[in-house]
Amino acid sequence: MSFINNCKRIVVKIGTSTLTYSNGSLNLRRIEALVRTISDFKNAGHEVIMVSSGAVGAGYARLALSEYPSTLALKQACAAVGQSQLMRIYDSCFSLYGHTVAQILMTKDVVENENRLLHLKNTFFSLLKMGCIPIVNENDSISSQEMQFGGNDTLSAYVAIASEADLIINLSDIDGLYDKDPRKNPDAKLIDRVDKIDDTIRACAGGAGTARGTGGMVAKIEAAEIASNNKIPMLIINGQDPFILYQILDGKHVGTYFAARKD
Ligand code: GLU
Repeated sequence: MSFINNCKRIVVKIGTSTLTYSNGSLNLRRIEALVRTISDFKNAGHEVIMVSSGAVGAGYARLALSEYPSTLALKQACAAVGQSQLMRIYDSCFSLYGHTVAQILMTKDVVENENRLLHLKNTFFSLLKMGCIPIVNENDSISSQEMQFGGNDTLSAYVAIASEADLIINLSDIDGLYDKDPRKNPDAKLIDRVDKIDDTIRACAGGAGTARGTGGMVAKIEAAEIASNNKIPMLIINGQDPFILYQILDGKHVGTYFAARKD
C-alpha cells in the first residue's frame, strides 16, 4: 500500500508564483489543472483543504496598477479585490467537477486563542464532513503585523495542525529542496527525504522567494519544521505543472518529503 493511501486528510498549499503570471493575472490553465487534480483526490476518497495565495497579485492585475503594491495599505486593498476574484474562479472551476468550496480567512490570533481555535477546528470538521473543500488564505485586508502568519507556508502548517491533517503538499516553483542553490550550482542534487531538520538542512534552503510571493525555501523549511514537530509530514513538489499531483495519487515519489517527528 502506498503512503498516500494512509493520508486521508491533505492540505495543499499553492503560492502566488504558481497561480499568477508575472503581471499578476491569474494563470487559468494552471488553476484549471490544479482544480482537476484536487477534484480527483476528492473522488479517490481523500479530504482536501487548500491554502491559496494569489489575492494581492490578482487584485493588482484587476485594478491595472502600474506597479506591484509596495505599501501595506495598497497591498491590503489589492487583497480585498483579488480574494473575491480568486474565490469566484475556484468556485466556478470546482463546480464543473461537482465540488463545493468554502472560504476561510485567518489571522494568527485565531490559533493563539483556545476558544477561537476551537471554532476554527469545528468549522473545518463540519465542512469536511459535508464534503466541502475549504480554501484558506490569510485575511490580508485586515491583518496587522502582530496578527500575521508571515506567509502562507507558515499558515499551511497551522491549518494542517488545526484540521488534524495527515499530510501537507506544498506546491513550489522548484522541484524540492536541493543540497545547494540549483540556480547557481548546476551540480546541485535534489534531496528526496529529510528525517530531521537541522542546521545542515537549513543551510541548503538559502535565500528568499520571488517578488510576487513571500515564500522561498527558508519559509518552507520553517513550515516543515512546525508540521514535523506536530507529527505531520510535508512534501515539497514543483507546482508549475499541477498534473504532477497525479504521480502522488499513483503512489510515486516526487519532490522532497519531510518526515513527521517520531518521538
Ligand atoms: N496571502 C497573500 C496573498 O494571498 C500571500 C502570502 C504568501 O504568498 O505567502 O496574496
